[in-house]
Amino acid sequence: MAAPRRSLPMHPDPAAMPPDADLRTYGEGPGEECGVFGILAPGEEVATATYYALYALQHRGQESAGIAVSDGNRIVVHKDMGLVNQVFSPSSLAGLQGHLAIGHTRYSTTGSSTWENAQPRYHESSTGGGVAIAHNGNLVNTADLARTLGTAATNDSEIMAALLARDADVSLEEAIMRIAPTFRGAFSIVAMDEDRLYAFRDPQGVRPLVLGRLPRGGWVVASETPALDITGAVYVRDVEPGELVCIDEAGGVVSRRFAEAAPKHCLFEWVYLARPDQRQHGSSVYAVRHRTGRVLAQEAPVEADLVIPVPDSGTSAAAGYAAESGIPYAEGLVKNRYVGRTFIQPTDSLRQLGIRLKLSPVAEIIEGKRLVVVDDSIVRGNTSRQLVAMLRAVGAAEVHLRITSPPIKNPCFYGIDMATRAQLIGANMTVDEITAHLGADSLHYVTLDGLISATPDARDDLCRACFDGEYPIGVPGEHEDLAATKFEAV
Ligand code: SF4
Repeated sequence: MAAPRRSLPMHPDPAAMPPDADLRTYGEGPGEECGVFGILAPGEEVATATYYALYALQHRGQESAGIAVSDGNRIVVHKDMGLVNQVFSPSSLAGLQGHLAIGHTRYSTTGSSTWENAQPRYHESSTGGGVAIAHNGNLVNTADLARTLGTAATNDSEIMAALLARDADVSLEEAIMRIAPTFRGAFSIVAMDEDRLYAFRDPQGVRPLVLGRLPRGGWVVASETPALDITGAVYVRDVEPGELVCIDEAGGVVSRRFAEAAPKHCLFEWVYLARPDQRQHGSSVYAVRHRTGRVLAQEAPVEADLVIPVPDSGTSAAAGYAAESGIPYAEGLVKNRYVGRTFIQPTDSLRQLGIRLKLSPVAEIIEGKRLVVVDDSIVRGNTSRQLVAMLRAVGAAEVHLRITSPPIKNPCFYGIDMATRAQLIGANMTVDEITAHLGADSLHYVTLDGLISATPDARDDLCRACFDGEYPIGVPGEHEDLAATKFEAV
C-alpha cells in the first residue's frame, strides 16, 4: 500500500501580491516564452540542480519561477512571482527534498501576471495521487478543452494539468497517451507524478525540448542545452515531436509515440529566443546567428566604419557581418544586464528615457562613425527609432540597420508575445517607409530564404508564420479576428 499522498503547496498569500502591474522590462522586443526542466536522480540534490537549471533558462521567462519535488510519497510545490534568485532561498530549497523534480520559468502577456498562473501546475489525480506539469508553448484549442473539462478556466496549462489528473486513473503515462493527442498548438511539457518523470512535445515540435544523462546516473530534460550543461548532464537527443518519454526511479527510459511527427520548428528560436550557447537539434545557435550575419553582409553590403551589435541577440550576427564584410566590429552599445523586471511603473517623464534603461551608447566608439547596427528584429519600431536617435545624439555619422529576421507581419499563436497585427510595423509599412520612420540611413531585413539557408532546417520543417503568414497549426478565428487577438503565452 502506497503511503498517503498529498501536496503541500507553499506560497504567499495571493492577496498580498502586488497588483497586476506591467512587470516587463522596459522595451518592445518580442516577449520571450517559458523554460522547463525536469530531473530524476536518486541520491542527488534535485531541487538545487533544478534551481541552477532554471537560472540557465532565466532568459526564457522572468515573471515567475517554480519547482515541484517528489520524495516518492508526496509532491511539494514552491513557486512565486519574480526571478529565480528572488523566488528561492537556501531555506526554501532545503524544504524541497526528493529524487524527482520539475521546474519552470514563466513569461506571460500582460494581464496574466498572477501568482495563480505561475508554474509548475499541480492537480490531485482521480486516484488521490498528484500530477504536476510545466509547459512551454501555447495551445490554440484551449476553449474546446475547457468545454471538455466543464470549466470556465482560460489558462491552457491549468486545463492541461486538470485533464491529465482527471485521466490518471490508471497511470499518468496512459493519461498522457490518451489526452496529448487532443492538445492543439505548441507544447513542450515536463510532468511528474510521485514516482516518474515525463516529457512530451507537440507533433510539430514548435518549441525545443532536449534529453540529457547525468554522469552518476539519472536523467534530465530541458528547454535548452545550457540547462543540461549547468547540471553536468550530457546531451543525448531531442525529445522528438509527438513523442512521450517516461523515466522511472530505476533510470529506465521508455519512449512512446502519441502522434506522428510533422516538424514545424519555430524559426524565431534561431533568431532571438534561444541562448547562443544552445544546441538546437544538435546544431549551434551561435553558428546559425553568425551565418545569418554573413548572409546579411552578402545581401546588403554598405560602406561603413564599424559594425556594432544591439546586445545580446544581435551580437553573434554582428560578428558574422563583420567577418564577411571586413568592417571592424566594436561594442558600441552597453546593455544594462541588471535591469530585470520592475514592479515600479515609470513616471511619464521617466518613460521618455525609454531605451536608455536597457542600452547605453559608448560615445568614444560611435562619434563620427558610419555604423552598421545589427539587431534581431523590429516589432513595433519604437525601440529601433529611439536607438537610431540615441546613436545620432552621440555623433554617429550614419546609421545602417541590418536585421537578422525578415519583417514580422503576423502575430504568433504558439507561445511568443509579438503584439497584434495592427501594432506590427512590418505589417503596416513598406521597408522604405520604415526606414524613414526610424530615421535610419538604410535598412535591410534578411530575406526569408537567406535566413533559412543559415539554419540546418529544411524550409518545410519550420514554422515561419510570423514572417509569411503560413500557420502550420490552424488557429480558430484566424481569418475573422487575427489582427485583434492576443493569446496568452507561457
Ligand atoms: S509564428 Fe514565428 S515566433 Fe511563432 S512559432 Fe512560428 S516562427 Fe516561431
